[in-house]
Order: sequence, then C-alpha cells, then structure tokens
Amino acid sequence: MAASPTPGAVWQALNAVPDPEIPVVSITDMGMVRDVTVDGGGRVQVTFTPTFSGCPALHVIRDSIEQAVKELGVAEVEVKSTLTPPWTTDWINEDARERLRQYGIAPPAPAGEGQLIQLEAEPTRCPRCSSFDVRMTASFGPTLCKRMYVCDSCKEPFEGFKSV
Ligand SMILES: [Zn+2]
Repeated sequence: MAASPTPGAVWQALNAVPDPEIPVVSITDMGMVRDVTVDGGGRVQVTFTPTFSGCPALHVIRDSIEQAVKELGVAEVEVKSTLTPPWTTDWINEDARERLRQYGIAPPAPAGEGQLIQLEAEPTRCPRCSSFDVRMTASFGPTLCKRMYVCDSCKEPFEGFKSV
C-alpha cells in the first residue's frame, strides 16, 4: 500500500534537495519549485521552473526531486518542468541570498519595475569586501546562469548571477 503524503510533507522533502550547482542552497530556496499536488490515489505531481533555461543540470534536478518524493513512500511521482512564467532571481529567498554571499556568489539585485529587458549588468557588490567597485569580465561564467566579475577594490574575481 503506497503512502499518501500531505503536500506539506512533499514540500519539506523538497527543502532538502540541494541546488545541483550551488550545494549551500536548496531548490526551494532558489524558488524553483512552483507547485506540488497530491491526488486521492497518493500520486504526487511536482512542477518546477529551472533557474535558467540554459542550465545544464535539468535532468539532475528532475531525478533529485523524484528521488526525494519517493523516499516518502510515494509510488508514483510526476515531475514537470515549466518555463512560464520564467524563473526570476526575485524568487530566491532572503536567507538563501545571504548564504550565496557567504559561499562567494554575488546574490542578484532584485529586478525591479520597468526593467524587463536589461542588457547591462546590474550593480553587483563584491561578496568578499562588499565594494561596489566591480566590473563584469565575461558575459558567461562556467554555466549560462552566471557571470564572471572582478572586484577593483580587492582584485578578487567572483561569480554573479545573471538577473533573468
Ligand atoms: Zn572585493
């Protein structure tokens, strides 16, 4: 007999699934999980939005979600990804922004109103010395989600998120 968890229990299980690229935050910290439904037969459906459509870790996220939910004793898990509405850096929770900073990744600036199309890098603080005196060195970091910056104050390079 398969277990029928509450949506809350599923959310809790997902809170423990780390972001595949940044292990200090979970996929729920990043705001990736959009919806959890449990039907009468105990089937669970999880809908998530990847942080950026070019992120190479999609299948890793999908497998991690499925595994985390199955550990609750669920027989059937359906994991769906959706790109509408597209993921935005505004979905990252406050607590996770601080952990990203400690990890050495500059948390993205909130996108704000009236800046739907933004080609220039937003002002980003150096995660090490908090200086605003930073400049972007490359549009693409190790993955399409990130940008490389260098701080002119402490001369340290660091990664920043692309605000999308
Ligand atoms: Zn610095």
